[in-house]
Amino acid sequence: MPYLTAPEALGELLPGEPSYRADQLRRWLYEAPVLDPADMTNLPAAVRERLGGLWPFTVEEQQSADGGRTIKWLFRAPDGVAIEAVLMGYRSRVTLCISSQAGCAMGCTFCATGQFGFDRHLDAGEITAQVAYAGAHLREHPIEGSPDRVTNVVFMGMGEPLANYTHTREAIRRMVEVMGISGRSVTVSTVGFLPGMERLATEPWPVTLALSLHAADDDLRQRLVPINRRYPIDDLITAAATYAETKGRRVTLEWTLMDGVNDTPEQARGLAAIARELRAHVNVIALNPTPLSDLQRPSARAAEAFVERVAAAGANVTLRDTRGRDIDAACGQLRARKG
Ligand code: SAH
Ligand code: SF4
Repeated sequence: MPYLTAPEALGELLPGEPSYRADQLRRWLYEAPVLDPADMTNLPAAVRERLGGLWPFTVEEQQSADGGRTIKWLFRAPDGVAIEAVLMGYRSRVTLCISSQAGCAMGCTFCATGQFGFDRHLDAGEITAQVAYAGAHLREHPIEGSPDRVTNVVFMGMGEPLANYTHTREAIRRMVEVMGISGRSVTVSTVGFLPGMERLATEPWPVTLALSLHAADDDLRQRLVPINRRYPIDDLITAAATYAETKGRRVTLEWTLMDGVNDTPEQARGLAAIARELRAHVNVIALNPTPLSDLQRPSARAAEAFVERVAAAGANVTLRDTRGRDIDAACGQLRARKG
């Protein structure tokens, strides 16, 4: 399972082979990934066999939606944990949503991953392999009218990436320095894990930071996002502002809209004030209802009214459509069904 070895250390897997073999292997793993080692055409069969299998997981399920423009995978690691990734093809980009942990310990009440608890951190290789797998799949099955490679990566699948900092960092390094994905096209979405936000600001890559805010005051936020008790909104705003300033990049605020909970005019005003202060872009996405919570998705009209209020209060805001609703493509939902 060569993805579990750093790209620079692949020679260790090929003792006795000339060093250019490791370079060839690295190319097949990261630059032009293939689904099957047999397609690594310039590597002798004996070398390919030594790899002992390519992927650090098996593909348990592949589903597609939106006329083949959205593909969701449920991968299974050898120890039994589930890993989800969702690929979305657009006109000028292909975005892959990846998982950083199996499960999540943050316990957000509206999130399927949070409801099912934490299994373990993913290794940097398991995170990067999701990107390589999707890239290899795209090469064999391009999405018509979309680029033929993964252009954007978002850490919005299962897990809190900044609570798994070392592996998240190493995965980003491999994507940017080895796979050729631009740092600006990588988005780290965080529940507001403050120490990780501060550390990420010190890294060399201009990755986009998305803060999952969901509420404009601490009372409401800590009902939805328990970790807010430890890292309250004012501290998150300070960290996000520092990030934006250090990187010269606007942060994004994510707002999962829940009927009768955070779709009020008061929350819209509070959100707009925070967004204006940070000069942030707001993404509003309607809740995907989950099995263990009564929280509901607002009507399309209510969602539009909320977004209009935020915009009228002077913030930059977009209502996102939810891709792949019919394949449980929201955070943690496929795994919630399959166990
Ligand atoms: N842990 C990180 C990244 C993974 S969650 C974070 O919380 O940001 C990625 C995004 O999916 C977050 O913005 C989260 O709020 C959102 N999300 C979680 N459950 C959802 C649901 N049921 N419907 C819609 N969005 C959801
Ligand atoms: Fe974890 Fe993010 Fe889900 Fe919260 S929303 S439980 S942080 S994955």
